[in-house]
Amino acid sequence: MTGLSAIELEDVVKEYLSHGEVVQAVKGVTLDIAEGEFFSLLGPSGCGKTTTMRMVAGFEQPTKGLVRLHGQDVTNVPPNKRDINMVFQSYALFPHMSVWDNVAFGLKQKKTPADEIRRRVGEMLEIVDLTGREKRRPREMSGGQQQRVALARALVNRPRALLLDEPLGALDLKLRQAMQIELKRIQREVGITFVYVTHDQSEALTMSDRIAVMNDGLVEQLAGPREIYERPASAFVAGFIGTSNLLTGTAAGGVLKVGGGRVLVPGHDGEVTVTVRPEKITIGTEEPAPERSGVRGTVAEVVYLGTYNSYAVNLADGADGADGTVITVFQQNAHDATATAERGDSVWLSWQTQHSY
Ligand code: ATP
Repeated sequence: MTGLSAIELEDVVKEYLSHGEVVQAVKGVTLDIAEGEFFSLLGPSGCGKTTTMRMVAGFEQPTKGLVRLHGQDVTNVPPNKRDINMVFQSYALFPHMSVWDNVAFGLKQKKTPADEIRRRVGEMLEIVDLTGREKRRPREMSGGQQQRVALARALVNRPRALLLDEPLGALDLKLRQAMQIELKRIQREVGITFVYVTHDQSEALTMSDRIAVMNDGLVEQLAGPREIYERPASAFVAGFIGTSNLLTGTAAGGVLKVGGGRVLVPGHDGEVTVTVRPEKITIGTEEPAPERSGVRGTVAEVVYLGTYNSYAVNLADGADGADGTVITVFQQNAHDATATAERGDSVWLSWQTQHSY
């Protein structure tokens, strides 16, 4: 990352008129995406990711706000005059053309000299690992290979930014995971800004430098993957990203009494929601030391998952009615693979205060 802005959105709003009613798809989004960054827009269906992306590409005009690319206001500039390209889930390859011709198409249109086309297409096919498959037609290739052709075609023009809208959505899980790593490698190699739209949190966490988590037309949190995972800014983000354990209640004097124990929330009083990640929790039989947060419960289920176990623990009835709350705990397995606790065991769950938010 150079620190220069590639894409800036300033308080962008998009309204649609639907059956005589105004629908706000995007309610005021401000983003500053750095040059060379792998940036993801992550959120559930309908949260406004695609609309946001389409305004960056120029397929949609914002109702309000500004779009800047590399410092220039492009709010009213048509898509073909913006130095960016877009890759779709459907690949949109030309079926009757070979891989080579698909990738060379844009350069030919721009009347690029033949030897330059040869060099650039060759280079690009090497980057996406398709050298030797130049003569194939799209239908003779796997989904992952077709996706790489689409990528090569979008990158061969050397756009300053590439927008990708759920590009791996049509692939099965294994291929998807392999392509996530490939995409990240390709992005690093070409050094182009990638903006990636996905509703898949693990995909966003795996690939991104930074993630904007969107909900209902707004950005709820904008941060790096680790921070989003470990310090979710809201209950929505915590719930959307991975497994999170939510504990709610009324805190007094920085202590939330819940689940037959207490959660330390220094500096907080009144209504609080606390989240703690499954892998930060320790299972034990003894009441934890006073500086740790601890709750009591009964092991409802143990699932063996190879190197670790997943425990579902029903919390004991607490002063704040935490009964019915199930806490998930991941615990690394010892070498002899014996479980820390069995189904039906009465246990204490504890964690360091810094691990609850
Ligand atoms: P998905 O993952 O399902 O594509 P998304 O997060 O990309 O969802 P958008 O496609 O941006 O969401 O849509 C955001 C909201 O705007 C939705 O409620 C959608 O119904 C509405 N919307 C999008 N396009 C239009 C349109 N052309 N006319 C009316 N409403 C629209």
